Amino acid sequence: MSLENNNKDLTLDPENWDQMRELGHRMIDDLFEYWKGIREEKIWKPIPAEVKDFLDQPIPEKGQDPEEVYQEFKQFIFPYNKGNVHPRFFAWIQGTGTPLGVLADLLASGMNPNAAIGEHSAMYVDRQVVNWCKELMNFPKEASGILVSGGSMANITALTVARNSFRDEKIRSKGLKAASAQLVLYCSVETHSCIQKAAEIIGLGTDAVRKIGVNERFEMRTNELEAQIQADLQAGLLPFCIVGTSGTVNTGAIDPMEELLEISRKYGMWFHVDGAYGALAKLDSKYSGRLKAIEEADSLAFDLHKWLYVPYEVGCTLIRDAKKHRESFAVTPNYLLQESRGLAGGLDSVNNYGFELSRGFKALKIWMSLKEHGREKYAQMIAQNNRQAEYLAHLVNQHPELELTAPVSMSITCFRMIHPDFSESQLRELNREILLRLQEEGIASPSSTILNGKFTLRVANVNQRTRMEDMDLLVREVLRIGGEIQNSGT
Ligand SMILES: *Cc1c(COP(=O)(O)O)cnc(C)c1O
Repeated sequence: MSLENNNKDLTLDPENWDQMRELGHRMIDDLFEYWKGIREEKIWKPIPAEVKDFLDQPIPEKGQDPEEVYQEFKQFIFPYNKGNVHPRFFAWIQGTGTPLGVLADLLASGMNPNAAIGEHSAMYVDRQVVNWCKELMNFPKEASGILVSGGSMANITALTVARNSFRDEKIRSKGLKAASAQLVLYCSVETHSCIQKAAEIIGLGTDAVRKIGVNERFEMRTNELEAQIQADLQAGLLPFCIVGTSGTVNTGAIDPMEELLEISRKYGMWFHVDGAYGALAKLDSKYSGRLKAIEEADSLAFDLHKWLYVPYEVGCTLIRDAKKHRESFAVTPNYLLQESRGLAGGLDSVNNYGFELSRGFKALKIWMSLKEHGREKYAQMIAQNNRQAEYLAHLVNQHPELELTAPVSMSITCFRMIHPDFSESQLRELNREILLRLQEEGIASPSSTILNGKFTLRVANVNQRTRMEDMDLLVREVLRIGGEIQNSGT
């Protein structure tokens, strides 16, 4: 190979900038048409076999025109979206996103800073957004926090701090093997699976997770909790952390925060709140009282891609004691030395507060969204989702063929169709079929769960596009489909 300069340096930038710019404008136009018309579209379409085949090809050896690549996107990918941008998406707990949030992601990607370390604007936006998260949750100014990919990462980040700072066990340096006894974590049977996974990853093991029973409103029974803690103490174990959930995935239930806080203080334990879905319900005055004790928690995890409606993905961990937070994660290798000036100057590396090093500029979409709408508007939106869930329950109660399967809490309504002559397994088949037809006909997307052995439709609403009338439509369609299934004798 000759080292002579023959002026043929390769690059990945476009050969024709104007053409790429024009393509970019068209992409934005297509997105805006999509959002504007989404209410009239089907919520979901089955993916045809040829699309799945197309998406199962070997890596291309040669490149192709960006225009063609975009046409393939429009043909094979865009039409088969999940549907959580649609006003009647109510499955799992999934946010809608907003147009400015999407544009902010485009800008963040265009600037493309690695927002982990260094003196540049993204670091200050990130810090400001973490401070705003503290303000939203009424956490003290001195608390620390970090933006991560979502609720699961936010929970494991917090539980790592809880573990490493437990008494004088020095678990960070010595490992769990040297702990004076087995550490035990407490949560309810309704707790999200990521808490168990986190406990496994931080070395406690599944057997050290105590899943406490719940009352008829699916909230943790504190008498059972305390009895279990005492039994574990007596057995020589080390109860170290209580996880309360603000808004369970199944039914939106809220564990008794005040009592969990008291019990954790009484036994010298860490109090962590998984508020991935429902910590932000604090902004709705109906719930702010019951969620007040969250402000006293040692740590809190919550998602911004759920109830702040920002595009995927971003969650937040807040830690009351910033020193404990930093001492759990800070390591400074030679290649990451902080300077007092220049590009390596500035704020403390974000990497000192979490496991990940490289991180995108996810703070920008939150920064722009909170500026666009302000806290008040978000409080109104969250309250609106809660009122819509209550309205749906009201409609369900008006129809003798429908029944609620859980009390409505926050923005989750669980209900099912019933029939006096049907067995439990016939009811299961009936409601399963209703759910599948609602999705396959592209009408609405609830999901399902099983509560007290009853298969049930589950409507979780963190959707900024939903209107009250969508609840009327949903009930009408459930009754229509349910009636059709019964008439056809299935
Ligand atoms: C969604 C959710 C999680 C997981 O959060 P991800 O953002 O999906 O990782 C954890 N706990 C609760 C209560 C949730 O609703």
